[in-house]
Amino acid sequence: MNILKDNFGRRFPYIRLSISDVCNFKCGYCLPDGYKINKADNRTFINTQEIGRLAKALSELGVSKIRLTGGEPTIRKDYLEIIKIIKKNSGIKKTVITTNGYKLNKIAKNLKDSGLDGINISIDSLNSKTFKQVTGHDRLHEILEGIQELQKLNFKNIKINAVLMKGINDSEKDFKEWSNFIKNNEIDFRYIELMQTGDNLDYFQKYHISANKFVDFLNNDKWIIQTFGKDAGPSKNFIKAEYKGKFGVIAPYSKDFCKSCNRLRITAKGDLRLCLFGDTGINIRHLMQKDDQIEELKDLILNQLNYKKESHYLEIGETGLNKNLSTIGG
Ligand code: SAM
Ligand code: SF4
Repeated sequence: MNILKDNFGRRFPYIRLSISDVCNFKCGYCLPDGYKINKADNRTFINTQEIGRLAKALSELGVSKIRLTGGEPTIRKDYLEIIKIIKKNSGIKKTVITTNGYKLNKIAKNLKDSGLDGINISIDSLNSKTFKQVTGHDRLHEILEGIQELQKLNFKNIKINAVLMKGINDSEKDFKEWSNFIKNNEIDFRYIELMQTGDNLDYFQKYHISANKFVDFLNNDKWIIQTFGKDAGPSKNFIKAEYKGKFGVIAPYSKDFCKSCNRLRITAKGDLRLCLFGDTGINIRHLMQKDDQIEELKDLILNQLNYKKESHYLEIGETGLNKNLSTIGG
């Protein structure tokens, strides 16, 4: 039973847990100059034992799904151990990961063997030049190869996310390339509308475009919107006969987006964040130190929910604590 409920009646069966701030990519909207150590904050990243205790506490609060994110979660040497610890001891039903997939062709088998329940891979374009332009890395080929490896291993629940950017990956040609891709692949592809963060105002102003451009394409191309359940999360999904995969749209600027919020976030340094944006959240790591602190940790998380606000207020430019999404995992 999920007992995490806020003052607006929303429940939180889903946690996004960042396990590293570090990233090797230089995505223009996130870390255009690459990852830089924050010298003002020399706290280390939460370790495997802390993560094990945290996952157990969350599971006892009714959380059923943890998504590992970052930064780039697979940069951490012990990322497989982390998956296994959550899978083995905590009671969490689904452990999934969001990754840039930079070494997916090499780690697909290990991921499958770890018991991972799902993977979201970020691929902003199927054109390798555009991919390199956005991420600073010419690695599209390896990532696509990694996806094929996962499919050969019969890994289910593969999703691809792309950030929609004006003039970069928002043409009908781009949309059709993804249509072709999901026609024969049982993979969901979603466009996320570019979000403004503390650091990316210029980029945002240059490249932000409403996700409606993609929705219009889907409507004209006779994709059918799927009705979704209460805990379905922020993606609106579209299906079409004869297509193995689905399309999805995540449009954070759309009206009522926050009404379906079902997730909380925890940073790699152990800060609970009640929203991707805004400035609410405190450090909870001191209560991950011993097994007998679990009740106290649960109480603290429950209590913090009283401070969750109704909306992110992003539409009025309130980007909050995060200079970019790499510290909080997008
Ligand atoms: N490094 C991993 C990756 O790229 O998948 C995990 C972390 S990344 C911060 C998680 C997701 O956030 C990625 O899909 C990325 O494209 C998305 N993201 C980052 N900054 C964003 C922004 N300003 N607006 C929209 N999505 C963003
Ligand atoms: Fe790294 Fe992901 Fe940010 Fe790209 S979006 S810079 S891959 S953390």
